Amino acid sequence: MYGSGIAKGLKTTLQHSFKRPVTVQYPEEVLPLPIGFRGRVALVVNPDTGRYRCTACSLCAKACPVSIIRITRAKDETGKPIPYPESYQYNLLECIFCGLCVEACPFEALTMTQERELAVYSRRGADQDMEKLAIEATPEVDEQRARVHGLGQ
Ligand code: SF4
Ligand code: SF4
Repeated sequence: MYGSGIAKGLKTTLQHSFKRPVTVQYPEEVLPLPIGFRGRVALVVNPDTGRYRCTACSLCAKACPVSIIRITRAKDETGKPIPYPESYQYNLLECIFCGLCVEACPFEALTMTQERELAVYSRRGADQDMEKLAIEATPEVDEQRARVHGLGQ
């Protein structure tokens, strides 16, 4: 009885010794992420104009359940607010990566990237501004955005 238990254990060990491991040697080896992975929130830039798609409508800020998005509108030369952001900020440490801001945006101006290595050395290092958030619109970026938005298949 005792010997058969050992034999079973050895058999299992031997079987697994010849199987391909399911683990990878991260960070040297990195598995691809699925489209729609919710990484860092980013602002989409139109590559033709170099301008953000954002109109500073603030719907994303209203949709954010933890109220971390701060947007100010740009002004024209007469001081009248225009539909374009002067600043767009949030702190990565406060984000819960829910994607509701992306869902709320009616202008396809917001996405979530596939960035997953987001560690920083200080709270200030996690501050996000328009420059850090800029991501150029490509077919891949738009596919990722659509999937986070819930429109992609
Ligand atoms: S992903 Fe969620 S928590 Fe993060 S900024 Fe967007 S709405 Fe707010
Ligand atoms: S909802 Fe979209 S267009 Fe409106 S402020 Fe947010 S990112 Fe900009």
